[in-house]
Amino acid sequence: MTADLEAQLRAVSLRVTRPRLAVLAALRDHPHIDTDAVIALVRADLPAVSHQAVYDVLRALTDAGLVRRIQPAGAIAHYESRVGDNHHHVVCRSCGAIADVDCAVGHAPCLTASDDHGFVIDEAEVVYWGVCPSCLTPNTASSEEGST
Ligand SMILES: [Zn+2]
Ligand SMILES: [Zn+2]
Repeated sequence: MTADLEAQLRAVSLRVTRPRLAVLAALRDHPHIDTDAVIALVRADLPAVSHQAVYDVLRALTDAGLVRRIQPAGAIAHYESRVGDNHHHVVCRSCGAIADVDCAVGHAPCLTASDDHGFVIDEAEVVYWGVCPSCLTPNTASSEEGST
């Protein structure tokens, strides 16, 4: 599995380092997590890595297109490694949970603007807001299994 992640780094001419591999692995296993959660996961493997180092890695991976930054209005930045498509997100107004929503049609831009103002549009980003299943049914979350 690590060979996979190493290949991703090499494909964008980034040097393979353990912190970069750890961040990619964390996002592969836990999509849509914030910076603090990334730091906690990376440190479980590499306790010596600093906060700043993780910030730097996230920035480098985002700039290189290996990681996508999602920041719903009013929320802090979340990261995911599902890139290269034009998928959207649904966000819970109550707890902030984020899930993927596949493109409306085929590939980017998967929605047609009613007026493009002469722009050449190559991407559409949609955020669906609502309430997630566990917020809809408070008090029963702990008795259910298989929710992850
Ligand atoms: Zn929720
Ligand atoms: Zn996503």
